[in-house]
Amino acid sequence: MHNFFVESDALDGVFRITGADHNHIKNVLRMREGNTFLVSYDGKSHLCALAGFENDTALAEIVEEDYQDTELPVQLYLFQGLPKGDKLELIIQKAVELGASGIIPVEMSRSVVKIEDKKRKQKQERWQAIAESAAKQSKRNVIPTVSEAVSYKKAMELASEMDVFLVPYENERGMAATADALEKLKNAKKVGVLIGPEGGFDDKEIALAKDAGGEIVSLGKRILRAETAAITALSMCMLYIEMNV
Ligand code: SAH
Repeated sequence: MHNFFVESDALDGVFRITGADHNHIKNVLRMREGNTFLVSYDGKSHLCALAGFENDTALAEIVEEDYQDTELPVQLYLFQGLPKGDKLELIIQKAVELGASGIIPVEMSRSVVKIEDKKRKQKQERWQAIAESAAKQSKRNVIPTVSEAVSYKKAMELASEMDVFLVPYENERGMAATADALEKLKNAKKVGVLIGPEGGFDDKEIALAKDAGGEIVSLGKRILRAETAAITALSMCMLYIEMNV
């Protein structure tokens, strides 16, 4: 989010932004009324919305005082092979707490569950509601989106748009690839993590993930359940990002 520093306090809940920042807001960013950004004054940052322009001044109305940005500076997307029962609900809740920007449920060859077409939208709405309540509880600034369940092919198309695409694979050995992949998070804007369902990946899926730019990594010598693997991989990325980016 853009952040502008001002030297005088708000008057009636409105900060006045002048000079180069005014020009930047108006002519470079071409912001419209209602667009939000941060304004910092006297060591505190406030969430503001553009209320309009007046002469050479941008008027920034305070929406939330002393706003704490809780978002990760890197967007993390969890691609989760559809697990059994309501396990995905737990995974969505934890992914949101850990800072994920989005969750993409994926129908994989070893997913036992198949979603009927007529239930797709209804399922997605339930998952989205879980994300929303987890976002509120964990004080996220944005509500992550959960998509409808997608095919593996579609998931690979989305994954190839990521700057880094991590594929924790139960048959991978050694932590060198994991360490290398984490280092790449420093320069990434969008990071995908693909976790298999209970039955894991088949060989063809691993080959397709590699074609989509996937980095095959291990999460240690033990076999983790799908939900543990998702939480572990996201925690690992979250901590690395919080410490290094
Ligand atoms: N049925 C498989 C395990 C699947 S675990 C078996 O017994 O071999 C579900 C998913 O969690 C895996 O597809 C993988 O994405 C992830 N996972 C579990 N343990 C892992 C590990 N040690 N390293 C990397 N990924 C792991």
